[in-house]
Amino acid sequence: MSEALTPVGVFGGTFNPVHYGHLRSALELTERLELDHLRLMPCATPPHREVPLCDARQRAEMVELAVRDEPQLRCDTRELDREGVSYTILSLEELRLELGAGHSLCLVMGCDALLKLDSWHRWEELLTVAHIVVIARPGWHFPDTGQVADWLASHHTSDRQILNTRAFGSVLIEELRPLAISSTEIRELLQSGRSVRYLLPEPVLDYIESRQLYQ
Ligand code: ATP
Repeated sequence: MSEALTPVGVFGGTFNPVHYGHLRSALELTERLELDHLRLMPCATPPHREVPLCDARQRAEMVELAVRDEPQLRCDTRELDREGVSYTILSLEELRLELGAGHSLCLVMGCDALLKLDSWHRWEELLTVAHIVVIARPGWHFPDTGQVADWLASHHTSDRQILNTRAFGSVLIEELRPLAISSTEIRELLQSGRSVRYLLPEPVLDYIESRQLYQ
């Protein structure tokens, strides 16, 4: 395999807060797809949802704490350093410039994100910059009609080797260990004064408690 094609992954999200569902999926994908590394990339101003309760810098600090001891996972803070709405296509274009034209790059998303993909800014250009890896999450289904379904039918492949032979352009679907954890549920537990221990890493829990976040 050429060095330049060892794929780099980028996993975008709000991470409000980051939890073991994100982290375990990130690690399993990194191993399964033999990624060079995977970057968890918190968005600053999400285009499709309300501005999160917790500020972007704090969400990124929690991601940094969560990946601190795992060399294959990194926190990428580029969306915090950029003005305006956090459009994924802009981050991918920046990464493409940094990695070079021939380097394999893949964007990771859950299938909840896939269902709304056609509402993303310049969504049809995403595959001109990166591959997309969709995590099949429990309880979610894939679109069977509409623009995203047609797009999926033309770009989906089950051949993982594509990540090592082409730099962008294909969609893979990966089933991982299902962990039914969501940030929404964590925020709700915290708001109602209940424990979130064992749903997220201990240093992230300490960070939340010391700053009394989500209360
Ligand atoms: P919220 O409950 O606030 O919507 P979330 O837990 O879904 O948050 P996000 O930060 O919105 O987390 O998600 C970032 C990405 O991680 C999304 O693509 C989402 O599909 C994926 N993801 C979230 N939770 C899990 C999980 N338990 N297992 C696998 N992927 C997940």
